Amino acid sequence: MAKPHILLIEDEAPIREMLRLALGKFGYSVTEAADAREARTAINTQLPDLMLVDWMLPGESGVELVRQLKREELTKDIPAIMVTARIEEDDRVKGLEVGADDYVCKPFSPKELNARIKAVLRRVRPQLADEPVEIEGLRIEPDSHRVFANGESLEIGPTEFRILHFFMTHPERVYSRTQILDLVWGSNVYIEERTVDVHIRRLRKVLTPSGHEHLVQTVRGAGYRFSARS
Ligand code: CA
Repeated sequence: MAKPHILLIEDEAPIREMLRLALGKFGYSVTEAADAREARTAINTQLPDLMLVDWMLPGESGVELVRQLKREELTKDIPAIMVTARIEEDDRVKGLEVGADDYVCKPFSPKELNARIKAVLRRVRPQLADEPVEIEGLRIEPDSHRVFANGESLEIGPTEFRILHFFMTHPERVYSRTQILDLVWGSNVYIEERTVDVHIRRLRKVLTPSGHEHLVQTVRGAGYRFSARS
């Protein structure tokens, strides 16, 4: 499964380091930023699945950053958890008012933080919390590694499963073969692009008996798209 990608915005290096290690241990991929400016650069490079934002940052504060990001089209749906040393009720309210999805108060245990992150991801992006996803009667269950079409279990190979899970959690967008390789296999693996075509063919074959193969669409000159629209 793709690891949820967390953008960690914290100016104090030792705390950032501690959090990075803890989040890595919990299975997240982590990008670090020391201030709002670095955070924006990181967001422009790769949209995170969730942001962990320290309340007090030098320059633009964490709460101001979240307020801005929640107003921008590209970033408004990225969930944000505020990290704060402030425990006054007013500040909590303020954090939630600007659009933060949750907050944790220092000091907190990594375990508590992970529980908060999971809860937010489950609420906002069920596909990242390994929750089942269902589209047009096609259902994928990451936990049990099973796929159902109209209630019937399908036989599916491990690579086809990963591609299908990626597609079902990223529908209605076109991905090039290179992107699919990077996102499903990982960028450190050398595989030829036509390997993607081979697995897509196999995936379509799995989906054909139940009539779901049309969901996996070839976009000429661009790549593939998973779409419930024709
Ligand atoms: Ca700080």
